[in-house]
Amino acid sequence: MGEAGADLLHVDVMDGHFVPNLTIGPMIVRAANEASSVPLDVHLMIRNAELYLEDYIRAGADILTVHAEAVTHLHGAIQKIKSLGARASVALNPGTSIEAVDCVLEDLDMVLIMTVNPGFGGQSFIESCLPKIEQLRERAVSRGLELDIEVDGGIKVDNVHRVASAGANVIVSGSGIFKSADWAKTIWEMRERAVRARTRPQA
Ligand code: ZN
Repeated sequence: MGEAGADLLHVDVMDGHFVPNLTIGPMIVRAANEASSVPLDVHLMIRNAELYLEDYIRAGADILTVHAEAVTHLHGAIQKIKSLGARASVALNPGTSIEAVDCVLEDLDMVLIMTVNPGFGGQSFIESCLPKIEQLRERAVSRGLELDIEVDGGIKVDNVHRVASAGANVIVSGSGIFKSADWAKTIWEMRERAVRARTRPQA
């Protein structure tokens, strides 16, 4: 599989319950892992994710993200992901505040801020998510945490600088890349713009 210069392969797993769409299971994740040379970033948009953590990590997930809204025992799920050897991440929907991860922030490798409502590709970026990214970055810095902040949904070349200057350092883009003519060039340009925005936040 050609990665076109991407650092990670982000895989959206949907169950038709937590989100209306239905996508792939552990077998396809395993196939993606075998075909790809970059770390696999698996985003579980499923109910009862606790029951499937092991399946996805065995299938090759290097980073495993569960939704705060879809997991009953968030602390336990995070500990389990880490004990199985993957990096632990929690996703927050646009309507969920960062307080949902406050008590587990020290245990997390990454927080995924959804910048659209999850379920389908090709949606527009929700502007009101920007202050949430800023608040989370401020909180991580004030606690001395090396937290990755990932954004997912509606990110394209022309808005990537906004999420990066707010504090996001892991950028997911689907149609922003796949609908462009030259995937490698688009990824390169997004990375350049994100890095520039993070080094000069006011620019
Ligand atoms: Zn995703």
